Amino acid sequence: MKQVPFFNYPVLFSQDETELIPVIHDVLQRGAYIMQKDLFEFEENLEKYLGVKHAIGVADGTMALIMVLRAAGIGSGDEVILPSHTFIASAAAIHHVGAKPVLADCGSDHLIDTKSAEKIINKKTRGIMPVQLNGRTANMEHICELARKYELKIVEDSAQALGSKFKQQFAGTFGVAGTFSFYPSKTLGCFGDGGAVITNDDDVANHIRLLRDHGRDPDSGDVVEWGYNSRLDNLHAAILNFKLKSYDDAISRRRSIALMYEERLGQLDDLDLPPAPDSNPDHFDIYQNYEIESGSRDDLRKYLDENGVKTIIQWGGKTLHQYRDLRFGTTGSLSATEEMCKRFFLLPMNTSLTNDDIEYICQKIITFYKNH
Ligand SMILES: *Cc1c(COP(=O)(O)O)cnc(C)c1O
Repeated sequence: MKQVPFFNYPVLFSQDETELIPVIHDVLQRGAYIMQKDLFEFEENLEKYLGVKHAIGVADGTMALIMVLRAAGIGSGDEVILPSHTFIASAAAIHHVGAKPVLADCGSDHLIDTKSAEKIINKKTRGIMPVQLNGRTANMEHICELARKYELKIVEDSAQALGSKFKQQFAGTFGVAGTFSFYPSKTLGCFGDGGAVITNDDDVANHIRLLRDHGRDPDSGDVVEWGYNSRLDNLHAAILNFKLKSYDDAISRRRSIALMYEERLGQLDDLDLPPAPDSNPDHFDIYQNYEIESGSRDDLRKYLDENGVKTIIQWGGKTLHQYRDLRFGTTGSLSATEEMCKRFFLLPMNTSLTNDDIEYICQKIITFYKNH
């Protein structure tokens, strides 16, 4: 029986192996580990790729969020609104700067619902954190309008959306700063943890450069504020720099996989698929994940599993307000998110998949529904 794992790190590595080994060897031979030229080259190439003034490599996507929140002046006593369907890291970053994460409901696109967000704004609300989940950028016109109306800082969690756009504008460029994660399964992944902050604001960029390196001024070396050890490793920067060169090809491949899914599964009544590539000219999606909804999710997943197709439910199927121990408390209604999380799961979506793999997955799903 054919096996389609959800993710296949060894295959992904072997695709690049012959070219990557010399890159790694070169860095090791130079003994260039922390804040060396490969990091600055990668930062420059990321700036060019996104058309932004500053890209700053940091340790991971979570620290990127923490430092951006600090640079935005958000801290103790403040509230920041974010969607309930996201990774815990989004809320943890808000918590760790001393502010309170307040949860909003999600829309049918699985992203923050602006109307739900507006209902929970109060005089303590200082920021809003749209999460550009699954590689799709939220309607940022609505978010920016809300931010203007209530004088909120926008801190974008664009960890899943490198290269994704809303109305031709890249995710990560709408607010104070945007954040990325280079966790291995992300669209641009390294061989461990990594992240970046992007911004067009010189002051924010300078602040992040201080914070990532123990609060040290990069020119004088003087310690000017309490910082962190949160640098992107030079070896990882070299690997990412190599991968960035073919990043557009990786995105195209993901988009063509999404189109294959759409063409084969779009007619099935019980399935809700993500919007197809180019189905809406305002959105350019990069398909970090292919998150679908099914009314018979658990049976469908079991059937796929028995047929060698591995699927997962993002974050174990829990949205943030369901982590009772963290005491988010009740804010607004999260009923859409509640309903959605009984139905959603992820089909395989990555560049190790062949067209045969996709055909096989789709054929099994179609067979499942014929028998149900
Ligand atoms: C991956 C991810 C993060 C955190 O990134 P790390 O690099 O793992 O710290 C934050 N938010 C979202 C939505 C993510 O998917």
